[in-house]
Amino acid sequence: MLVDRHPGVSIHGKARGINQRTMEIYRAYGIADAVERAGAPFEAESGVAHCETLAGEWQWLFDADVPRAWPDVTAGAFCMADQNTVEPILIDAARSAGAEHLFDTELVSFDADAGGVIATLENRTTGERQRVSAEYLIAADGNRSPIRQKLGIARTGERTFQHTVNIVFRADLSAFLPRRALFWIIANPAGFHGGLVSTADPRRWQASIAYDPAEESTEDFTDERCARLVRAAVGEDIDVEIEGVAAWEQAVGVAERYRDGRVFLVGDSAHVWPPAGALGANTGVQDAHNLAWKLAAVVKGEAGDALLDTYDAERRPVAEALAPAIVAHQEARMSGRPEPAALDDRAQALGARYGAGEALGALAQEVRVGARAPHLWLGDVAVHDLCVDGFVLLCDSPEWTDAASAAGVRAHRAEEAEGWAERYGSGAALIRPDGYVAWCSSGPASATELTGAVARALGPVRSPV
Ligand SMILES: Cc1cc2nc3c(=O)[nH]c(=O)nc-3n(C[C@H](O)[C@H](O)[C@H](O)COP(=O)(O)OP(=O)(O)OC[C@H]3O[C@@H](n4cnc5c(N)ncnc54)[C@H](O)[C@@H]3O)c2cc1C
Repeated sequence: MLVDRHPGVSIHGKARGINQRTMEIYRAYGIADAVERAGAPFEAESGVAHCETLAGEWQWLFDADVPRAWPDVTAGAFCMADQNTVEPILIDAARSAGAEHLFDTELVSFDADAGGVIATLENRTTGERQRVSAEYLIAADGNRSPIRQKLGIARTGERTFQHTVNIVFRADLSAFLPRRALFWIIANPAGFHGGLVSTADPRRWQASIAYDPAEESTEDFTDERCARLVRAAVGEDIDVEIEGVAAWEQAVGVAERYRDGRVFLVGDSAHVWPPAGALGANTGVQDAHNLAWKLAAVVKGEAGDALLDTYDAERRPVAEALAPAIVAHQEARMSGRPEPAALDDRAQALGARYGAGEALGALAQEVRVGARAPHLWLGDVAVHDLCVDGFVLLCDSPEWTDAASAAGVRAHRAEEAEGWAERYGSGAALIRPDGYVAWCSSGPASATELTGAVARALGPVRSPV
């Protein structure tokens, strides 16, 4: 059951850059095509422009023609689609998989103990309340996360870079757009210092500016003031219709723990990033993907509670490793310096590693326990397309497929796939439902060894909460 206190999807686009790893996950769940269609309006956008007004001269801060697809390492191609167009796709997919999704419904309180969770939900229109009993609670409740706060979980490395107001408006800006940028940074003496971003609707735009919450609030951004700001950004007296104003924080911070008994923090509740790097929603989706198969295994009785501890052990170090690199990027962006190369795109999207050693590293293409399974094409299907429901054994002999069948594991022969020998050597590799390598063997096929490897990956079935 998913509840959201908002009456519907926000008009504020928020996350737009969906990285290769997130798209790899969306492919496995059959929604990548729909997400790509939602991103079609942004296909022609590239580069970041700087100008005094949109109607004036532009300088290109960067205009790199960065490839969106890395076909040698993943079948997932970078996509730009706003969170408010992707959320309905995710909600539909969750509903088709049996989830109940309720808008306009607020979690007003909860009690969690070793026996379970009791949540009180309130319909915000009718005021009607219901008590729901659940085995687990996932706090996907954003940067301010009331659930995290109630649990008293602090954040490390907390810092606010800027408080920002987003103004969503309708206007015809086509006369001022010889080309479409990813975003425009606009600063002028008429009083606009901020950014301008398109939306999927060609007549709807978003302007963002810094504000000081100690001095003012979103109420001070009246329609008249917002229209004045938009006209200052454009540099012409155009018709503007203001649709909405929302405040957000450009901040960084990582929760000290991602688990408290039966409660798990995911997304911005667990870690918040400033915009540089476009990683907020991406890291969030990847957290949820790590947690979901573990919860499923525990709820189905295939694994014990100890498996759920690995969510914090695996995902929090990744966030802690990302934080300093994102901070360096954000500082460079805010000071106008070139952004550092330290945050390699491939490492940040695909280089998370679990278990011993560094949590984020250069992308390696050789199979390694604890790392994402190296990409291969098995005909029309990519390895990660298979990682959606249960463990998968990639192998290169009929003996291994027989062993897998005896162990009750899905197996795929991969020796014909280009890159098998270089990336996987020979033998078998056991891949977890989230696409990470659990175990590999270059020895003789053995159902007993494979059964043992699955059992170790799931942990003891009986372990206390
Ligand atoms: C302008 C902007 C641009 C961005 N661009 C990118 C990008 O390009 N790529 C990227 O990866 N990230 C980007 N981000 C970051 C991204 O938007 C966030 O990381 C992402 O929205 C976090 O998702 P979330 O579900 O964790 O939290 P949110 O999207 O904040 O959702 C939290 C939800 O919890 C609900 N909620 C809170 N409390 C309760 C309660 N008590 N009961 C019921 N519901 C509750 C809220 O209604 C809300 O719907 C951007 C953010 C902004 C603001």
